[in-house]
Amino acid sequence: MLDTNEILRLADIVPESVVDGKGIRMTVFVQGCRHACKGCHNPGTWDENGGAEYSVNYVADLAKKNPLLDGLTFSGGEPFLQPKPLNELAKWCHANSLNVWCYSGYTYEQLCSLGEKDGDVRELLNNIDVLVDGPFIEAQKDLTLAFRGSSNQRVLDMNETRKTGKPALLKGV
Ligand code: SF4
Repeated sequence: MLDTNEILRLADIVPESVVDGKGIRMTVFVQGCRHACKGCHNPGTWDENGGAEYSVNYVADLAKKNPLLDGLTFSGGEPFLQPKPLNELAKWCHANSLNVWCYSGYTYEQLCSLGEKDGDVRELLNNIDVLVDGPFIEAQKDLTLAFRGSSNQRVLDMNETRKTGKPALLKGV
């Protein structure tokens, strides 16, 4: 049990996925998105009052039950609209040897600038291992790409990015 009362508003939880990052992952689809990308794969996640509430404890307990997981993926929807509860979940993941991938319709640079004013955004950016960044752009859609829908999106190694101070692409993807 985590020492938190944080609540997440989610569209869905997929207990096992191999398409939302490397390895076997549990994917948490957050509810709420303001990017309105044309051709969005998941418009049902846009309504910030939709979905259902889940405690961070519930999600962590669900992940704990599967010893095969390599990590959790935060997808959506827009995870950075709920940075506080996701920070708690990300910290729990790292304490339990699980890595954290996160999708965002914001670019890394936009998130850095949002993080200058919002400590929770900054903390979430610091608590994820891989960031798949940027909006889905229909004109750049490419079904051959791994883990992303359009070629403008980048799969960023956040540990390397933090080390070098520059956005670093994840190797081997
Ligand atoms: S960021 Fe993702 S969920 Fe949001 S509109 Fe774009 S594709 Fe859809």
